[in-house]
Amino acid sequence: MTEPLNLRIPGPTPLPDAVREVGSQQMLNHRGPEFRDLISRVGERLQRAFRTRNDILTLTCSGTGGMEAAIVNHLSPTDPVLAVSIGSFGDRFAKIAQRYGADVVRYDVEWGNAADPAALADALRAMAQAGRPARAVLLTHNETSTGVTNPLAELAAAARRAAPDSLIIVDGVSGLGAVPFEADAWELDVVATGSQKSWMVPPGLAMVSVSARAWQAAERATMPRFYFDLAEARRFLGKGETPWTPAVSVLLQLDVALELLEREGYEQIFARHAACGAAARAGLKAMGFRLLADHHHASNTVTAAWLPEGVEWSGLNRLLLDRGLVLAGGQGKLAGSILRIGHLGAVSVADVVSAIETIERAAHELGLPLELGAGPRAARSAAHEAVPTPA
Ligand code: PMP
Repeated sequence: MTEPLNLRIPGPTPLPDAVREVGSQQMLNHRGPEFRDLISRVGERLQRAFRTRNDILTLTCSGTGGMEAAIVNHLSPTDPVLAVSIGSFGDRFAKIAQRYGADVVRYDVEWGNAADPAALADALRAMAQAGRPARAVLLTHNETSTGVTNPLAELAAAARRAAPDSLIIVDGVSGLGAVPFEADAWELDVVATGSQKSWMVPPGLAMVSVSARAWQAAERATMPRFYFDLAEARRFLGKGETPWTPAVSVLLQLDVALELLEREGYEQIFARHAACGAAARAGLKAMGFRLLADHHHASNTVTAAWLPEGVEWSGLNRLLLDRGLVLAGGQGKLAGSILRIGHLGAVSVADVVSAIETIERAAHELGLPLELGAGPRAARSAAHEAVPTPA
C-alpha cells in the first residue's frame, strides 16, 4: 500500500519519525521502574503543556473516553448541567452527560459560530433562578466539526462569575497543544485531550487534568464508573502505575513527542499553527470557497469550508485521494456539504500550501472557474503575514 502523501484530517495526525520509531520498541514491565520514570516524566511534560499544577491522569482510550471520565467522576444522576454546544462534539459531550442521568440544559449555538460569554452567563443565572444551579458547565475548546475555537478564557471567566460553585469541564481534544491554553489561569477544573491530535502520537490515550475542586466533587459524585475511575488512577499514579494495563507503546511515543514539542517551544508551536490556519483560510477563500467559521473564531487547527455549488464531496474526494491528499468531510448534519482540512500536530505551512494546490487542481478539473495558482499564492502570503518577522 502506498502511504498517503499529505494526511490532512484533524486527527489522527502524521507522526514524526522519532515518534514512529519508538513505537516499535520492545515491551517493558508496566509495574516496573522504567514505567514509573516514563509516567512521571510524561505527567510533568503534560502539566507544562496544559499549564497546570493539577493532577493529570493518562487513560488508555480515545478522547471520548476522556470526556466520559470527566463526566462520570464529578457528577451524580439528576445533577443540573449546562452543556454548551457549538457543533457535533459539543453535542456528544451533552449526550454523555444525559446518558448517565444528568439533568442537561443546553445552550446551543448555530454551527459555525462560537459561544457567547454573556449568553452563557444568562443561561447559568436562569438555572440558578429556577432553583437548579448548574453543578458543571461543559465546554468545547475547539469544535473540530465546524473549525471554530471558542473564546475559552472569556467563557470560563463568565461561568465562574455567574456560577461560582459550578465545575468547568472542558473538551480540549483538538486544540490543546496547538493553540494557547491556560488550564490554571483560566480556572478550568477538568480538561480532557486525546493523543492523536496536536500531540503527534497515535490514537490510544486520553489525558485528563483534575483540579482540587473537582477532586472534592468526585468524592460526592455517584455516577457509575469502573475503568474510568479517576481516583483509582490517581492512587496508582502515586506509585508510578496505572490501574489497568496501559497502552505502553503509545505512552513511549507520547514521551518522545512531548520532548519534541518542548524542544520547539509552545510559543513557536502556536505561531506555526496560526500561520497554517491563516494559509488554509486564505487559500480556500482565494479559490472561491466560503468558510464555515465566523472569522473572529476560526480555528488554527482545522478549517471547514462549504463545498461550492455543484461540487459533490465524493467526486472531489476521489480526485484528491488520487493525488495523495486526504481531507475530512462533514460530520452529522454537515456530511456532504463541507470539506475540512486538518492542520494540527506535525504540520508545516508547506503542507497546507500543498493541500491548497491539490484542491485547486481538483476543483479546476471539476470545472470550477478559478485562476490556477491563486489559492497557493494567497495561502503563502497569509502565512507570511500571520507570523510577524522579528524587528
Ligand atoms: N472532541 C473533539 C473536539 C474532537 O475533535 C474529537 C475527535 N475528533 C473528540 C472529542 C473525540 O475523540 P475520539 O475520536 O478520540 O474519541
